[in-house]
Amino acid sequence: MAEGRRRRLLRANTPGVSRIIMTESSSQSFRVAVVGGGLSGLSAAHRLIEKSQESGKTFDLTLFEATPRTGGMIATKRIGDYLVELGADSFITNKPAGVALCRRLGMENELIPTIGQWRKSLVLKDGKPVQVPEGFMLITPAKVWPILKSPIFSWGGKLRMGLERLLPAKKAAVDEDESLASFVRRRFGQQLLDRLVQPLVGGIYTSDPEKLSLRATLPRFLDQEQQFGSLIKASRSQAKQQSKAENSASGARYGLFTAPKNGIQSILDCLREKVETSATIRSDCLIQSITKNDNGWSVTIVGGETELFDAVILALPTHRAAELLEGVSPELAEDLSSIEYASSAIVVSGHNLDDITHPLDAFGLVIPEIEKRDIIAVSFSSRKFPGRAPAGKVILRTFVGGAMHPEMMELSDDALKQMVRNELTAMLGVTGEPDFAEVIRYQNAMPQYHVGHLDRVASIESRVAGLLGLELAGNAYRGVGIPDSIASGEAAAERVLK
Ligand SMILES: Cc1cc2nc3c(=O)[nH]c(=O)nc-3n(C[C@H](O)[C@H](O)[C@H](O)COP(=O)(O)OP(=O)(O)OC[C@H]3O[C@@H](n4cnc5c(N)ncnc54)[C@H](O)[C@@H]3O)c2cc1C
Repeated sequence: MAEGRRRRLLRANTPGVSRIIMTESSSQSFRVAVVGGGLSGLSAAHRLIEKSQESGKTFDLTLFEATPRTGGMIATKRIGDYLVELGADSFITNKPAGVALCRRLGMENELIPTIGQWRKSLVLKDGKPVQVPEGFMLITPAKVWPILKSPIFSWGGKLRMGLERLLPAKKAAVDEDESLASFVRRRFGQQLLDRLVQPLVGGIYTSDPEKLSLRATLPRFLDQEQQFGSLIKASRSQAKQQSKAENSASGARYGLFTAPKNGIQSILDCLREKVETSATIRSDCLIQSITKNDNGWSVTIVGGETELFDAVILALPTHRAAELLEGVSPELAEDLSSIEYASSAIVVSGHNLDDITHPLDAFGLVIPEIEKRDIIAVSFSSRKFPGRAPAGKVILRTFVGGAMHPEMMELSDDALKQMVRNELTAMLGVTGEPDFAEVIRYQNAMPQYHVGHLDRVASIESRVAGLLGLELAGNAYRGVGIPDSIASGEAAAERVLK
């Protein structure tokens, strides 16, 4: 055990009661605890170490993780000759933090682009997969001809979309929030919302579009409305600029999404390796409470052991952070608890391509609520990146639950597998026994960015600013994806040092 840690370790005399040993601790270097060993926590710890190396200042850093392994929601597993992502399978490159971290970790060369041949998406229409019109950008039908040809929309629906060019921008206060559903209905009509935007955008956030805050998730569309008066006009203008800028953009080498060739977990493994060289990682260490006192922050592990720190970064889901902070600031705990979460599950399975009648000529299939099915989406995982499935095989990752289908989480694993199998047979013509099928559950894991989210986050941030030495990180605040989590952890580390 590191000498610094031994000296500040506070042992319980009796179970549940800690005796604080104050001697020698004041002579220690700056002591930081990171609670949570997912991507956000590991990124925070790694940034502290980088900063320490840059500045020559030493930190005494401990990372606490409740479970035996670090990585949190991200895990990659070999199943026979398959390389299977159990959580995230790729990350977006137009938010720079993901690629930048890989570069600093020395693993930029491991990042691979998606397979160009299959760079398409499908959406279910009347029970059958249909291609998402070319040029469709999350909300905006940027190209006219693919929309006109698409069987997804009625002529009335197409006409309503086209009218978007003529609609005036809403006169709104710059920071006024609006739900995704309200915005899309207002600009393009109900049909585009029901048939494409709900399954595509709602799927990313596993959220109800009637509640999802546009300003917190996709503010660029609100800005485009104000700047260009129309999203279609904005997309035309930006398409011209983009094609010029593309060669120099950070994502250009990989396309819009990338992943390391050995899976997303290799980023976490590399982070852990770097963090371990300069910090203590305590796995299987559930933090029970934190308290603020004159000497800093006491962090208590389940079982009663307490350690003292000058600063604490909580890189946790907000409901877990709220539990720990209840005694420190009930108001902050209440704000944190006000961010809702949804649960979801992935059924991941490996199949012979010969057992599937659909050509799977895309990255995946999304399923609109209006189709009234039991699954949210299917990712054709091994169509996205090479090296995921052996020749003649394919990995399907079927998403279930989320804010729109919480009842699905009540099903047993066997019932979920059976339900998914029936749906895959009906939608894609999947037959035969899969090589494997596993259920991965994400209980209360997906933060819901509901209307008013940015106000909630601002309130949380102002309360945290009043608690010297406390910082929060994670995917519940200013972005749900991998680059956001990395940026959030790194920013928390930098604030601690200030
Ligand atoms: C199914 C799914 C698919 C996804 N797909 C993608 C994708 O393709 N691309 C993308 O960019 N993003 C994706 N995401 C989002 C991405 O995975 C997350 O943003 C990111 O992993 C969040 O990391 P985190 O460290 O903030 O949280 P977590 O991974 O939840 O880490 C928190 C850690 O804290 C620990 N912990 C909790 N309580 C305590 C305690 N009291 N004491 C100590 N430790 C504690 C937990 O055990 C956990 O390890 C996906 C998420 C899910 C659920």
